[in-house]
Amino acid sequence: MAARSVRVAELSKSFEAETALHGIDLDVSPGDITVVVGPSGCGKSTLLKCIAGLVDPSEGSIQFDGTDVTDRRPADRDLGFVFQEFEDTLFAHMTVRENVRVGLEQQSSVDAADIETRIDDILEMVAVSDLGDDYPENLSGGQQQRVELARQLARDCDLVLLDDPLADLDYKLQKRMELELHRRHAASNNTYLYVTHNQTQALELADELVVMNAGRIEQVGTPASVYHDPETAFVGRFVGDSNMIEGVRDGTEGAISTDAGELVAADAGAGSEEVVVLVRPEEIELQPDPDAVDNTLEGRVQGRTFIGDETEFIVSVPGIEDTVLVRLPGSVTVDADEVTIGWDADATLVYGLDELSVDPDFALADLRELYS
Ligand code: ATP
Repeated sequence: MAARSVRVAELSKSFEAETALHGIDLDVSPGDITVVVGPSGCGKSTLLKCIAGLVDPSEGSIQFDGTDVTDRRPADRDLGFVFQEFEDTLFAHMTVRENVRVGLEQQSSVDAADIETRIDDILEMVAVSDLGDDYPENLSGGQQQRVELARQLARDCDLVLLDDPLADLDYKLQKRMELELHRRHAASNNTYLYVTHNQTQALELADELVVMNAGRIEQVGTPASVYHDPETAFVGRFVGDSNMIEGVRDGTEGAISTDAGELVAADAGAGSEEVVVLVRPEEIELQPDPDAVDNTLEGRVQGRTFIGDETEFIVSVPGIEDTVLVRLPGSVTVDADEVTIGWDADATLVYGLDELSVDPDFALADLRELYS
């Protein structure tokens, strides 16, 4: 089966009280895992439902492999859809095995002799092998969610829409399922369009990452390009951790005045005089050689946490409202409470206050709230 491409053009959706999507343009490449990430309520589910035909767009069009399907009935779109409201989609009068079997039997391409093996494989994949004869009402929310995932993936559709399918699982199971999803995807080469509000999961799963905010797309790119080169402060703050420092361009190329001191940026950005500086925690050094870094500030260590193979320090710096997060590889200790932190000009991301986000109503207060 060939993977399918999806093109969304100028798609808008207004409900009575509000506009959920503002002119979305998006190309989903065949065979990719495209992950749409954004805060709760930014329009991710509405976008998927428009693609599935379950919500009628107010404006715009949707194409599959170059064919316009905007007015096609949902049943004729031939796709797999793992809903967020999975409780409503499992058949209550059928066991877990029967639920998965129904999906498989609908596929003309599946050989009847293979069906039981395929059910075994997919139940194992989602770690519910021992629940095959149980009914949905006897399963936990997380188990039901995995059965729904199994049901949709077993059908092997060339386009699968997944709406936060791992949201109800604990951390370990989420990690295992991410791995299994990757394996399944690599084996099938189908197109997955995956929605989540979990930015770590988005970075781990995506071939292509789409960051949404308030019904608009802020940035599209590989996870690495979005992480290292966020086009807006919203993206920098939402995808991965970042430290935020407010300042003013001081007229000299690349120089930023802040209450904590002068900073140097390789690219001082554009927009208004008032700026927000973002610095990734892993770009900051503790007690650096002052001649080896472009920016140094004095601060006080407020906390230290060893997490697996990294150490995080929380440092308060006079003149910076939030504490500064510093992330170093390995297990690191410092002797002193008073420390110098430092980082380079090219790790200093600068945004004018008028270009924090593509959402015109997005404000500095919103940026501060994100993952604060
Ligand atoms: P979450 O991550 O919480 O699921 P989301 O990004 O998927 O959020 P949507 O569910 O698409 O967001 O909702 C986008 C906006 O549209 C929200 O403000 C929501 O209240 C509104 N909305 C969605 N569906 C409807 C509906 N059927 N009627 C009215 N408003 C709706």
